[in-house]
Amino acid sequence: MILDGKVVAAARKQELRKLLEEFPKQLHLAVILVGNHPASRSYVSSKEKACHEVGIDSQVISLDENITTEELKEVIRSLNADEKVDGILVQLPLPNHINEQEILQAIDPSKDVDCFHPYNVGRLFLGQPIIQPCTPKGVMEMLSYYNISPAGKHAVVIGRSNIVGKPMAALLLQANATVTICHSRTPNLSEEVKRADIVIAAVGRPKMIGREMIKDGAVVIDVGINRIEDPSNPKGYTIVGDVDFESVSQIASAITPVPGGVGLMTVAELLWNTYTLARCRV
Ligand code: NDP
Repeated sequence: MILDGKVVAAARKQELRKLLEEFPKQLHLAVILVGNHPASRSYVSSKEKACHEVGIDSQVISLDENITTEELKEVIRSLNADEKVDGILVQLPLPNHINEQEILQAIDPSKDVDCFHPYNVGRLFLGQPIIQPCTPKGVMEMLSYYNISPAGKHAVVIGRSNIVGKPMAALLLQANATVTICHSRTPNLSEEVKRADIVIAAVGRPKMIGREMIKDGAVVIDVGINRIEDPSNPKGYTIVGDVDFESVSQIASAITPVPGGVGLMTVAELLWNTYTLARCRV
């Protein structure tokens, strides 16, 4: 079975659109983009487009690459104070000279749509989240849509980033899976992955997970988004996941494609987080 991000994200957006029709306030999301990173620009424009689709106002604040941490914090402070703004998102990665942690902590937790502020991360790990980070939440929504319950299953998460791997593990644990987290220092990665009923690949290495690593009938969720050179493509590159879709799809019971999988869910859940935070405030 293909777990289709287009179908599930469309359903999630449709559900939200209806709720927003009844909502007493026009929602507003502020997106901060520092510099001119092509992938970041493309993510920001897909977020803008998605906001438009469901009727959320979006505002992209494009800032010079040389902005200082202090200047960027000042921009965030003014958005924190702006009643009109329901959600604030700082597109990552930031240029190296900017202190990312300081920036994420400057966002008012009640407007932290990405769920990266330590307050929201702490609540998540205590099992008391107000919101959940968009990509792991998107994975959980996708599993739920296809009636795949993690309860009692062995889930293996490959990757331990603060953005994907760690919160993904926390959500699966909360959903009563037995969770193993693997990373670059895990010996015998293949053996760990082979034991999984549910595999979540969030590594950032093109097609690293092959058929030989997957248990017969496992559910495979590919979070990876990797650009690989492709002279046959007019863009000069192709997007592939961390999973070798062609071979793994022959053995998995369910699998997400890349593109067309988790990436679309991430954007849909960003819209939901904007709504959830706004609902807490009105
Ligand atoms: P990071 O680079 O922050 O983390 C990658 C993780 O993979 C690290 O924990 C690293 O281990 C681990 N890792 C690296 N190499 C290996 C290896 N050989 N074996 C086992 N583990 C390894 O990436 P992100 O978590 O931010 O993103 C992961 C992927 O997901 C990327 O392709 C990114 O583009 C994509 N992504 C997709 C999103 C979506 O919406 N679909 C959203 C966000 C990200 P260690 O900690 O030891 O270094």
